[in-house]
Amino acid sequence: MNKPNITWIGSPNFSSPKGYKIIAIVNHIMSGTLTGTDAWFAKPTSKVSSHFGVGKNGEIHQYVNLANPAWANGVINKPNWALLQSGVNPNYYTVSIEHEGESGDVMPEVQYQSTLALHQWLIRTLNIPVTCDNIIGHYRIDSVNKAKCPGTGFPWDRLFQDLQGGSDVLM
Ligand SMILES: [Zn+2]
Repeated sequence: MNKPNITWIGSPNFSSPKGYKIIAIVNHIMSGTLTGTDAWFAKPTSKVSSHFGVGKNGEIHQYVNLANPAWANGVINKPNWALLQSGVNPNYYTVSIEHEGESGDVMPEVQYQSTLALHQWLIRTLNIPVTCDNIIGHYRIDSVNKAKCPGTGFPWDRLFQDLQGGSDVLM
């Protein structure tokens, strides 16, 4: 799997490298547009970011280098995730992907293909296992305030099938 086309946008909102291995991809919904997210992550006062954002038109934007923790999953609230590391900020060992749109939106095909390619590249580059504990949604870390992130429109079944080359899903 080749590296997909990624446009560097940047953000001032990230941590210095903490030395943890990235063990999971965390998927999010922007609840907004790619353009709006570019602007929001560019503001120091927003104090939020993610590594990547995928637009409905298939564009992939990058805000934070993989070596730096992004500020996407710092709040733990009634989590449901077996790989949560006690006492460690989840941002330190996760890579985050935001998706343009509202929670519940059906993902356009071109957006799906881009996030699939990005997942495949990250899995290969970071050696992330394809399991439902290594590829998760934000709601697994905060089931209270982020229950709808990325929401019911996110194509989990198809994504896992494609990532596993069509074999049975390891749930
Ligand atoms: Zn989220």
